[in-house]
Amino acid sequence: MNVLLTGAAGFIGSHVAERYLRDGDAVIGVDNLCTGSVNNLVHARTHDTFSFVEADIAEDWLALEAHVKGLGFVPDLVLHMASPASPIDYAELPLQTLAVNSRGTQNCSAAALRWKARMLFASTSESYGDPKEHPQRETYWGNVNPVGPRSCYDEAKRFGEALMMAQIRKAGLDGRIIRIFNTYGPRMRANDGRVVPNFVTQALQGQPLTIYGDGMQTRSFCYVDDLVEGIYLCAASEKTHGIVVNLGNPEEYTIRRFAEMVCDIVGVSLNIVMRDIPTDDPTRRCPDITRAKELLGWQPRVPVREGLERTIAYFRGGSGHIVAQTRPHLRQRYDRSATEADRAQ
Ligand code: UDP
Repeated sequence: MNVLLTGAAGFIGSHVAERYLRDGDAVIGVDNLCTGSVNNLVHARTHDTFSFVEADIAEDWLALEAHVKGLGFVPDLVLHMASPASPIDYAELPLQTLAVNSRGTQNCSAAALRWKARMLFASTSESYGDPKEHPQRETYWGNVNPVGPRSCYDEAKRFGEALMMAQIRKAGLDGRIIRIFNTYGPRMRANDGRVVPNFVTQALQGQPLTIYGDGMQTRSFCYVDDLVEGIYLCAASEKTHGIVVNLGNPEEYTIRRFAEMVCDIVGVSLNIVMRDIPTDDPTRRCPDITRAKELLGWQPRVPVREGLERTIAYFRGGSGHIVAQTRPHLRQRYDRSATEADRAQ
């Protein structure tokens, strides 16, 4: 099978690439490297059937499609996973986040139709916003602030979902949507600002763990290998056509309890410092995975403690590449459009 994978150099995308390559599939990985890193592709690149293209799928689609055609590669499956995904990344790249999930999804889905390929769009639990239903089922419409600081991500993903459904209903796209809940594991960036790399690097460096708010907000953490298997099964299934599927681990922790567990595994005593809670930080989040269980026979296998031990071992090894800044040419392009928009106000 031929797979076109956007976001291939990202934390999750790079693991997904390897899953298909291990099966003998051919993968073209695409990434603009605004938050991903080619370091994540070291393993993928050991496969002859992998190639990498640095391109922005929102801006450079025609060139990308011509390149793919030139390689004689006709995708059977398009996995659209490209997007900044951590709150500090999408706060820094809001217009790019909106573009990759709107124009990027439009470009991917239109090409998938031309190629007669199946498509999977990676959406997010952020589609539920600060949820009023708990745990969250796919049927829940969500509670999203459309103009808050997280809206560039939440609304972009919701738009991407709506676009997918329109392509499925009107054009016959063989599409499906996953909503990914908090995922962690090797290849997270040490400085991506999310709670797992923050707590792990802080504990390893003997620094206090930064708890935002009172630490009583909850998250449910899924180990990356489990998530990848869920993505693989969802993409392979006929039953997921036109359907949204939650993928996540329903093991739910308060952030405070999670901090205690990280310190316990690292072997340091709990030392915390309280910080302000970010605006619109969801108070509770936990997936209802009944649909994934029923349709795919999937559920997470790696307990959070075990996954954390593996992740801490990775960070102890000094891994976790740092992207000090987003790429200058992208910043320039998006900063310019922001300024133009401001002038037009
Ligand atoms: N958080 C925290 N300390 C940190 C980073 C995050 O207390 O150093 C909290 C954050 O406020 C949120 C939760 O941990 O309630 C998960 O945050 P993350 O950025 O990992 O992902 P989110 O689920 O908010 O997208």
